[in-house]
Amino acid sequence: MSATIIDGRAAAGRLRQRIAARTAELTKEGLIPGLAVVLVGDDPASQIYVGSKTRQAQEVGIHHFDHRLPATTTTAQLVGLVKQLNESPEVHGILVQLPLPAGINSPQVLSTIDPAKDVDGFHACNVGRLSLGEEAIVPCTPQGCMMLIKEVQPDLAGQRALVIGRSNIVGKPMAQLLLRNDCTVTIAHSRTRDLPALCQESDIVVAAIGRPKAIAGDWIRPGAIVIDVGINRVTDDNGTSRLVGDVDFANAVNRAGAITPVPGGVGPMTIACLLMNTVHAAIRARLRSGNTV
Ligand code: NAD
Repeated sequence: MSATIIDGRAAAGRLRQRIAARTAELTKEGLIPGLAVVLVGDDPASQIYVGSKTRQAQEVGIHHFDHRLPATTTTAQLVGLVKQLNESPEVHGILVQLPLPAGINSPQVLSTIDPAKDVDGFHACNVGRLSLGEEAIVPCTPQGCMMLIKEVQPDLAGQRALVIGRSNIVGKPMAQLLLRNDCTVTIAHSRTRDLPALCQESDIVVAAIGRPKAIAGDWIRPGAIVIDVGINRVTDDNGTSRLVGDVDFANAVNRAGAITPVPGGVGPMTIACLLMNTVHAAIRARLRSGNTV
């Protein structure tokens, strides 16, 4: 039997509609959510990502402030800009597009962002709060994955979840979110032994590796929920280039209960969650300022 295809584009579209409606209400009340987007250098992929983020911010009514800096920018200059943005009352979210050019001290830049404006959720304060189970700004990609999982299974208590990949931006926060939702969580990585066996005993598999077809279809437990975070560009025998995930979709779709496609699965949710984090940051800033109009 073929799996339910979890439509990330449609889910992201619904989420953006809700964000646009909330942003319109806030704007009427005099609070325009503001997102500062900082891009350093001319990496083509980063330019595309930043372009999508600012376009979608604009579409939902979020005010965006673009800062495009040359690749020669120093850590001190970037830290200086982030400090200015921290102080700006019009900016509720700060996004520094990664990766930064090699010469820049990325941890220093990210740790300079005010945790209340850290809409990517990468600051140690937010990472720590998430792991403590406290209110935190949650990284966008795992947050989007969680929403997609809940589309097909709202109650996750007791589910055996396997996160494949242990990066700070996807794997680790994903595991924290699943734990928060009462799953029994295993994190696998490049040194894990017998990944097929772990997959076969998992009710939920989140693959965030960055290798095409790393997860074979017959590793999937029948009926499992499969969330494919991977984005890999491959070239077919006929020379056509296309994007694929980490999971062998064509085979996994016949075993999974529900599965995300690539493209059209997790990707669209990531930016929608960034916009949501920005609106929430704006609301919290208003609460902190004592103005609850
Ligand atoms: P990363 O390179 O930082 O981490 C990859 C992880 O995979 C590592 O923890 C590594 O231990 C693990 N790994 C590598 N080979 C493995 C193997 N054979 N078996 C098991 N684990 C293995 O990557 P990342 O930043 O976490 O991104 C992962 C993938 O997700 C990439 O394809 C990236 O493009 C994609 N991504 C997508 C979105 C989105 O919005 N859809 C967002 C972020 C990342």
